[in-house]
Amino acid sequence: MIVLRLIKQLFKNPFTNKFPAKYTPTSMTEFLKDVEKGKVKMIPPIETPPQFRGAVAYDKEKCIGCQLCMRICPSRSIEFIPETKKIKIYLSRCTFCSQCVEICPVDALSMSDKWLLADTNKYSKNLIVE
Ligand code: SF4
Ligand code: SF4
Repeated sequence: MIVLRLIKQLFKNPFTNKFPAKYTPTSMTEFLKDVEKGKVKMIPPIETPPQFRGAVAYDKEKCIGCQLCMRICPSRSIEFIPETKKIKIYLSRCTFCSQCVEICPVDALSMSDKWLLADTNKYSKNLIVE
């Protein structure tokens, strides 16, 4: 049975896209152009389920600088900036536990559905929320 399934699989198209898409070589750019022209079909990612815990989102305007999020964060992903009384979140350290979201008294933090976070530089803009 497994052999039969394997043979069938050989004649099917791949079910996955190259990942992370933003770092693939130029050929990927060509691939995306072909997708735009409708020449090839991109396999869409699955929908994120309700309550999905993606990257932490931060509403700076709402933040009152109480530092509760920083104190509760188990992975020390949050830095307090004394000059501005605002915070900075390093997603490369974040464990997506949502404790900061729960403790924030003014709802300045939330778990977004952003999950495309693969990066080669842990300090890249993509991985810092401020
Ligand atoms: S989700 Fe958890 S690990 Fe990530 S910043 Fe908030 S408290 Fe820290
Ligand atoms: S808990 Fe909320 S209000 Fe307090 S510093 Fe963190 S984000 Fe700002």
